Amino acid sequence: MTLSSLGLASPVPEWRGGGFAGAWRFDSGRGEWTADADVAGAMGLPTRCALRDVLAVIDPADRARVRSALEGAALSGGRLHRRFKLVGGPAAGSWVRLSGLSEGGIVSGALIDLPGEGQRMDSWRDAEQRFRHAFDQTPTTAVQGYDRQRRVIYWNAASEALYGWRRDEALGRLLEELIIPPPMRAEVIRPHTAWVEHDQAIPAGELELQRKDGSPVPVFSSHVLLRNGWGEPEMYCIDVDLREQRQAMNEGLQREQRLQLLSQVSHAGWWEWDGVSQRLRWSSEIGRWLGLTAGGEGSLRTLLARLEPSTREQWLTSLGRLHANGGAVDLELHHRQGDRERHYLLHAEPVDPELPTRRVGTLLDITESKEAASRIDRLAHFDATTGLPNRVLMRERLAEALARGQREGAKLVVGAIGLDQFRLVNESFGMAAGDALLSACAQRLEGRLRAQDLVVRLSGDQFGVLMAGMASEAEAETLAQKLLATFDQPFTLGEQEIFLTASLGLAVSPDDGHEPEALLQHAETALHRAKEQGRGHHQFFRSEMNQRSLERVQLINRLRRALEGQELSLHVQPQVLLSSGQLKGAEALLRWQSPQFGAVPPDRFIPLAEDSGLIEPIGDWVLARSCDILRDWQAAGHSQLTLSANLSARQFRGRHLVDKVAAEIERCAISPSSLVLEVTESVLLDRDGRTRDLLFGLKDLGLRLAIDDFGTGYSSLSYLRRFPVDILKIDRAFVRDLGQDADADALVRAIASMAQALKLTVVAEGVETAEQAALLKALDCEFGQGWLFGRPVPSHEFGQRFLGVDAPAS
Ligand code: C2E
Ligand code: CA
Ligand code: CA
Repeated sequence: MTLSSLGLASPVPEWRGGGFAGAWRFDSGRGEWTADADVAGAMGLPTRCALRDVLAVIDPADRARVRSALEGAALSGGRLHRRFKLVGGPAAGSWVRLSGLSEGGIVSGALIDLPGEGQRMDSWRDAEQRFRHAFDQTPTTAVQGYDRQRRVIYWNAASEALYGWRRDEALGRLLEELIIPPPMRAEVIRPHTAWVEHDQAIPAGELELQRKDGSPVPVFSSHVLLRNGWGEPEMYCIDVDLREQRQAMNEGLQREQRLQLLSQVSHAGWWEWDGVSQRLRWSSEIGRWLGLTAGGEGSLRTLLARLEPSTREQWLTSLGRLHANGGAVDLELHHRQGDRERHYLLHAEPVDPELPTRRVGTLLDITESKEAASRIDRLAHFDATTGLPNRVLMRERLAEALARGQREGAKLVVGAIGLDQFRLVNESFGMAAGDALLSACAQRLEGRLRAQDLVVRLSGDQFGVLMAGMASEAEAETLAQKLLATFDQPFTLGEQEIFLTASLGLAVSPDDGHEPEALLQHAETALHRAKEQGRGHHQFFRSEMNQRSLERVQLINRLRRALEGQELSLHVQPQVLLSSGQLKGAEALLRWQSPQFGAVPPDRFIPLAEDSGLIEPIGDWVLARSCDILRDWQAAGHSQLTLSANLSARQFRGRHLVDKVAAEIERCAISPSSLVLEVTESVLLDRDGRTRDLLFGLKDLGLRLAIDDFGTGYSSLSYLRRFPVDILKIDRAFVRDLGQDADADALVRAIASMAQALKLTVVAEGVETAEQAALLKALDCEFGQGWLFGRPVPSHEFGQRFLGVDAPAS
């Protein structure tokens, strides 16, 4: 509210022109300005008006100065001198001097026209205007002017933007009230006074000032002290807004902090390299990793100072190569720290393609992932039970050795070692014992080989060996025997001593191939062949074996369908009382007539049936057919005749053997005592109580048990006591040698007499000649079976020929 608006203003006195001078008074409390008629008339104002009416006729360039001078004087007392130019009223264009004295909020004094100084002052004003005009235009440089009392006399647009105060709000206000945070105010006033009074310049610097809304604003502030047209000191501040820089810096700082945090969690450190100065800056992680306490700066050698000299040289060489390469590079480095090998991945990039000498990068600690990888590698390449490498590693080493062998022209031997009947160990003593035994084998095998040879575990009970640099097959032969001799000594399992035998198959490169997998397979084929020959043998691979192993696979596939295809049949071979030639019974022998392979001998397909598990259904079928034949015989009144069926060892591993046999006997309603089951010695060997229980179970059904091929296995007569055996069948190998080999005679005699003592029946197999029959009789052998008495024939033919019955074909 102004006086004029209240209608209190007095009329404007008339001005007579010319020089003028008069008194004035300013009451700051009421904001009221009074002047005498001369002054009021010259300014075109009433004698009493508001201060802003007075300011309105003053040159805008002076307005702030006048206002700050008046208000400042009213507030703090003291004298006042101001020169300014009038731009309104009748005396517009005149320069005047305002001087006064302040007392108790009232300032009063005189206003005098300065006619002599007009021109000089105008030219100064021009210069000042141009100078201010220049600053008005700069949008980014905030310029403020302050008078001796630090009242704002100039405030450009950039200052408005920077501090939030509009120009009209700022003019006349005190510097410290506007933009100085309260705690800093004293620090601003003191140097300003020192400058104004004692000419001590305020140095430029970064300050944190305050905006209108109270928020802090960082500026770079430089100051100049100018004297105005009449020598008054005026301070101009030129402030550059640092907010963006600060923010950028903060962001940079934060980025760096984040990077640091990231570095810590990701095991990454960063570095910077200047190739020109040869100086390196590295983060704290890198410093720590390389044995320094923290991050730092210096030469590469400084950073690597704590590394072992040899490692350091390696690093320097690797990093030197990096220097030669301008692009992005990844490099793996390692060093030993205590007893742990530490691995790093170095990534380097040029900062700027134009400046290839400057590089930045990271160093990543990849020790843990490396270790994990090597653990995985171990799992993939090593067998957990024996600690030996596995087939995968064998294949890799084999490939390397083959490449080397080719260059050096040396032979390379691949061996496959199979433990004979190892399955029985697991079954009899348990898996843990089996594993312990495998480890013991592994150790022995490793002990037998040269350092450059390799032993691996190929599969369950198979080991592989790789022997390089072999001069000849003869050398390999010696080695093979040495390997098999590994098993001459028994293994101890707890209190038990266990004798193991192994078979060995060998393939030799380059003769048998150059491909790792092919060589391994050849060795395994040879192993198979060796096993077929009996325990403890070795075999070199022959190309025919491949044919054989291919045939094996085909045979198994065909055999699978043989049962349904009715390709199987039973032939029957008579057994006679040697003394009289009287028919005592017969043996049922399996025949396979394959449309593809013709008549396949049982010696060939029974082992395949055992290996493939097909022996179970086939064995069941043999049993059923045998009982059918017995039923037919008994129906025809030949109840005294026995029929022997062969049981494979593997059938003892299946379930319900006893139940199956019982069911067949019942189904055919035959007299159980007419059925004989033939088992080989191996069934009695190496077995736990289970087999014994089964044999007793079968015996309890009322049938009889025969030991087939007696004398070829490991059986001692003593254990025959432990099993419910009724019949011993002397193997035809001994019968063949009778009369030619004294040992054979002695053996047959021993068996016969022992059998008598044990009340066992003896049947001699393979009797082909009358001499053999006579000798057997002389040696107290009771029964005979062989071509002399009849070849195996289809069961209906047997019925017709020997029994005079027309039994249905089986
Ligand atoms: P094995 O149980 O020892 O059967 C006797 C073998 O000797 C039969 O061979 C028979 O034909 C043959 N043989 C009989 N008399 C003479 C002779 O005077 N001189 C000669 N040189 N050989 C004679 P086969 O039929 O080839 O059977 C071979 C083997 O196949 C059998 O030997 C037996 O171990 C197995 N086998 C045959 N049938 C079956 C069966 O149904 N189940 C099982 N698990 N194995 C069977
Ligand atoms: Ca037999
Ligand atoms: Ca036999």
